[in-house]
Amino acid sequence: MIKVFVAGHRGLVGTATTQALASSGKYEIVTRARAELDLSDRVATRDFFMSARPDFVVMSAARVGGILANSNFPVEFLHENLAIQLSVFEAAHASGVKRMIFLGSSCIYPRDCAQPIKEEYLLTGPLEATNRPYALAKIAGVEACWAFNRQHQTAYLAVMPTNLYGPGDNYHPDHSHVLPALIRRFHEARMSSVDAVTVWGTGNPRREFMYSADMGNAIAFLLDLPLKQFAKLTAPDAAPLLNVGLGHDITIHELAHLVSDTVGFKGKIIFDDTKPDGTPRKMLDVRRLHNLGWTAKTDLRTGLHHAYNDFLNRYPTSPS
Ligand code: GDP
Repeated sequence: MIKVFVAGHRGLVGTATTQALASSGKYEIVTRARAELDLSDRVATRDFFMSARPDFVVMSAARVGGILANSNFPVEFLHENLAIQLSVFEAAHASGVKRMIFLGSSCIYPRDCAQPIKEEYLLTGPLEATNRPYALAKIAGVEACWAFNRQHQTAYLAVMPTNLYGPGDNYHPDHSHVLPALIRRFHEARMSSVDAVTVWGTGNPRREFMYSADMGNAIAFLLDLPLKQFAKLTAPDAAPLLNVGLGHDITIHELAHLVSDTVGFKGKIIFDDTKPDGTPRKMLDVRRLHNLGWTAKTDLRTGLHHAYNDFLNRYPTSPS
């Protein structure tokens, strides 16, 4: 069996990836809770890799959050992500990891770049200010994949997921991403018979939302590629970068109505344009991934339904 370490296995991507890998039956999955292993600790991380000796790594450990969390904690978003990446990349190389998939984000691309966003648009323009520290840490991760591949002939691939949602999401009222934030807000409004819900920004920004199980399946699909194909994706002559998304998006206004319908809220929706909109649009060009033979399966209405059920199961009373 192939031994794979899923770093950040309790996060949205880590949870979905662990499930996808487990269902294939090909892998021995290794995980460590944060209390057992602090991935920003270089010595502890190296010791762990040298004794566990994983063949593959899915690097989905990161400090993540929505637009407000990014604005309030720029230092944590920069430092924690850089620290985790430094120790995991070094340890993976030292212990001879054969394949690594590093999770980036679609916010690494320039704020105003042409749509849909192609992989080669990286570093062609200024970043969106609200999540620049996070984006720069992730760009450093892409560069690390490339640098290790060039200098040490490793096979480290950086994947850029679009906005993700699904079971295990963070429903914090201020620090979560838009989709879980709206599930919670519309649900609480319905439960307490409030007749209006406020949504941040103008409602005009467009976002692409992918169900986390699809992301887990994409990662399992990529890890399972034949050696030659994986080696081609991580060849040193081009950035080892691959977008993972749906190739279609919706406005925040449309999303708010969809969440409202799913939750069964009957009141008014108000847009608060004193809150930031962030990037106007970030839809990924997913032709490279489609050409490899993978497409996302879950439509937004179905995924939302699953996500809402998960929310109800995990929080029979409101989360704190
Ligand atoms: P982004 O994709 O990195 O900008 O991250 P978010 O998921 O935090 O925000 C996406 C868009 O949804 C932005 O235009 C926000 O202004 C908008 N939005 C509307 N209501 C909310 C909310 O309650 N929470 C968050 N995080 N975003 C919201």
